[in-house]
Amino acid sequence: PRLANQIAAGEVVERPASVIKEVLENSLDAGSDRLDIDIEDGGIKLMRVRDNGIGIDKDDLPLALSRHATSKIYQLDDLEAVATLGFRGEALASISSVARLTITSNTGGDSGWAARAEGRDMVAEVTPAAHPQGTTVEVRDLFFNTPARRKFLRTEKTEFNRIDDVVKRLALSRFDVSFNLRHNGRAIHSLRKATSQIEQERRVAQVCGPAFMENAVHIDVERSGLRLWGWVALPTFSRSQADLQHFYVNGRAIKDKLVTHAVRQAYQDVLFHGRHPAFVLYLDLDPSTVDVNVHPTKHEVRFRDNRMVHDFLFRSLHHALADVRP
Ligand code: ADP
Ligand code: MG
Repeated sequence: PRLANQIAAGEVVERPASVIKEVLENSLDAGSDRLDIDIEDGGIKLMRVRDNGIGIDKDDLPLALSRHATSKIYQLDDLEAVATLGFRGEALASISSVARLTITSNTGGDSGWAARAEGRDMVAEVTPAAHPQGTTVEVRDLFFNTPARRKFLRTEKTEFNRIDDVVKRLALSRFDVSFNLRHNGRAIHSLRKATSQIEQERRVAQVCGPAFMENAVHIDVERSGLRLWGWVALPTFSRSQADLQHFYVNGRAIKDKLVTHAVRQAYQDVLFHGRHPAFVLYLDLDPSTVDVNVHPTKHEVRFRDNRMVHDFLFRSLHHALADVRP
C-alpha cells in the first residue's frame, strides 16, 4: 500500500477508449508484436484484444485481476525509471469492477487458462481454455452495474472514434507491431509491421490519411544524443478534420507546450504560416534527461534541459522546412 500511495491514482475507466488504452498497453508491455482488436457497439457491448505476448501464468491469473498487483515494479527506485507503460497495477481490477472481464492466456505451455471476473465481487476462478501463446482480454457490457456512468457515454460512433484514436496513436508509436482493428465485424485498420521508411510512410498514410503523406517531408536529425525524426506537412496540406499533431518522446505520446511552441516557431519563421502545423514527430533522447510520468493520464513531459530541447527542435525543423520551402 505504501508503494501504491506514492503513485498518482487515476480514475482509469471513464469510457471504452480508456479500457482499450490500458489493455493495449499491457499487451505491448508483454512484448507482443501482433494485436487483434475487436469492438462491438462502440465498445459498450464488447472489446476484445488478442496478443501474442509472454502470457500470464495460471497462478498469476487471479493476481493480475487484483488491485495493486503489478508485475512491473519491484522496488520503489524503479518508479524513477519506469520503462513499461503500465506501473500502477490497478487497470484490470478497475475494469473488472465495472464490466464482465475474461482473461485467457497461455505462456507457451500445452494449454491455456481463463479467469473471469464480474463486477466488484470477482469470481476469479481459473479454468482450462485453449489459447495460443499470448493473452486475450475480453471486456463485455461495460458499466452494466453502474448505470449512472453508462449514461455519460456518447453515441456508439463517438465512443468508437475515441477507441480508434487510441489505436492510431499507438500504431504510430510502434511500427514494429501489427494492428488489426475491427468494428462490428468490419475491418477498420489492418496495419502490417513497418520496418523500412517506405513501409512506415505507408502506415502513416493509412493512419493519418494519404493527403498528409503526399504533402509531408521526411526529417531525421541527430545531434549530441538527441534525435528528431518523422514527417511534417507543408502548407499545401489543408485539413478539414481536427488537428493532426502527433509527438512522441521516447515512444510515448505527449502533448507539451514547449514542443508545440518550438514547432510553431519553426513553421512561422520559414513559412510564415504556423497556426496549425500538422506533424508526426519522434524525439528520442536519454531517458534520464526526461520525465514522462508526471501524471499517468495527462500526456505531459518534463525535460531536464528545456532550452536545449527547444533549441534542437526549432533548429531541426527550421532546417528541414527551409530545405523544401516552396
Ligand atoms: P499494470 O499494467 O500497471 O502492472 P494492470 O492491472 O494493467 O497493471 O495489469 C496487471 C498485471 O497483469 C500486469 O502487471 C501483468 O503482469 C499482467 N498482464 C495484464 N495484461 C497482460 C498481457 N496482455 N500479457 C501479459 N501479462 C499481462
Ligand atoms: Mg497496465
